[in-house]
Amino acid sequence: MDISAMNKSELTELIKLNKDKTDKALIDKAFSLRKKYYGDKVYLRGLIEVSNFCKNDCFYCGIRCANQKVNRYRLSHEEIMSCCKRGYELGFHTFVLQGGEDDFFDDETMCKIIGEIKENYPDCAVTLSLGEKTKETYKKYKDAGADRYLLRHESATEEHYKKLHPVSLSLKNRKRCLYDLKDLGFQVGAGFMVGSPFQTEEYLAEDLLFLKELSPEMVGIGPFIPHCDTPFRDYAQGPLELTITMLALTRILLPKSLIPATTALGTISKDGREMGLLAGANVIMPNLSPLDFRKDYALYNDKAYTGDEAAESIKKIEEKVSALGLKIDFSRGDNIDFQKEKQQ
Ligand code: SAM
Repeated sequence: MDISAMNKSELTELIKLNKDKTDKALIDKAFSLRKKYYGDKVYLRGLIEVSNFCKNDCFYCGIRCANQKVNRYRLSHEEIMSCCKRGYELGFHTFVLQGGEDDFFDDETMCKIIGEIKENYPDCAVTLSLGEKTKETYKKYKDAGADRYLLRHESATEEHYKKLHPVSLSLKNRKRCLYDLKDLGFQVGAGFMVGSPFQTEEYLAEDLLFLKELSPEMVGIGPFIPHCDTPFRDYAQGPLELTITMLALTRILLPKSLIPATTALGTISKDGREMGLLAGANVIMPNLSPLDFRKDYALYNDKAYTGDEAAESIKKIEEKVSALGLKIDFSRGDNIDFQKEKQQ
């Protein structure tokens, strides 16, 4: 069974077969592939949630602009710098700046932040996850020193994408952004939620085929979890087994990718992140945001933000990772193809 050569209907069948169970052979294959390229390493990234202001109105997301109940915040330049300082002291060598699409952070403001992080911590990577921008803006971020960009494609099927987003957002533009980022030399992260409303196994197969075509350096996959103040409040959360199956299939199709065991996965099951790591995930992103703001970056109900999710809990994270026979790693953790480019 050569999964990497499968077409859409074959992938659809495979997903259907493994949606309610995790297949040992599949998981073992995924685990051995991550080992082949990244050994036992689980890379740690410090996540800084810079703003929960968002001009978009995605139907699934707790910080959508129509949600009037959100206590909105944005971190100041100084607050972001102090998160990085604390993160660096804790050992982190990647900072991920994530936020809603907040126009307060115009190009000049953002580039100043990126530039200062790179100046203070030249041995660190800066990852951005700030949504859809023009190619010119992405280029400014790159010129300022940003290394990576996370932008989940959310759904590779037009019909499904439209059911998750308002008409102002399009799959075409999402894809345009991803290809622009690739073209500019970013390490790019795409991805999707598992079990989002209206999703079918066929759509998931399309997601895998799109990932194969784009060939991103990182892939973020986590379960959909409803948020009580969104139009999707009454939909069920994404199933654990199917999420694990999709992580394993992604590892098999893109063996060199960096794949986080997401907070959402840890939220739906206490062993979720461990199961993700055993199915091929090799990144954890502990939260470095100031404690007072963490509860306000609520994309979905019951999002974990203290305990094992917090950067303060590295010891606990380390113990859990070691128990799986893996090792946490504080280096920059570039995608293996980018590590080689650097050495040349
Ligand atoms: N604004 C940026 C963007 O659009 O990429 C980054 C922030 S956005 C909130 C980060 C990711 O959170 C999204 O790509 C989406 O997949 C995920 N997310 C949002 N709502 C979610 C939910 N209810 N359950 C699980 N994941 C969710």
